[in-house]
Amino acid sequence: MPWKAEIMPLEEYKAKRDFRRTREPEGQAGGVEEEIFVVQEHHASHLHYDFRLSLDGVLKSWAVPKGVPEEKDTRRLAVQTEDHPLEYASFEGTIPKGEYGAGEVRIWDKGRFQLKERSADKLVFVLEGERLRGAYALVRFRGQEKQAKNWLIMKL
Ligand code: MN
Repeated sequence: MPWKAEIMPLEEYKAKRDFRRTREPEGQAGGVEEEIFVVQEHHASHLHYDFRLSLDGVLKSWAVPKGVPEEKDTRRLAVQTEDHPLEYASFEGTIPKGEYGAGEVRIWDKGRFQLKERSADKLVFVLEGERLRGAYALVRFRGQEKQAKNWLIMKL
């Protein structure tokens, strides 16, 4: 089962944050899972877009420096980051200076998705957002080890 939930979900997420200082949700793994995606525009040290899909009771997450493509056949680098709690899909606000990911977070797009295909190295899904609509794929870079973080996201 390549997509089996981790034994300690959200451990990395929690280790990186001080919840006395940031308003980001502390969250729990599990709970009611809807098939939702979110793209958060994140004005951290470098502007990037965080793409998140609800899977396995958490938000699987990728940082997309140039943003999720709206045009077909455009490939963008997507660097997998730590799983986030489901509640993070509603988070907008300012992460305080000095904290992990300090800067503004705004929801750029959000909606439902339909999962079409899933393996350790590939996800295919249909996004039903305001801006992002249609079939997308996330594919791990070829020739890398299983845990490698670099993926490509593309509109099909
Ligand atoms: Mn980010």
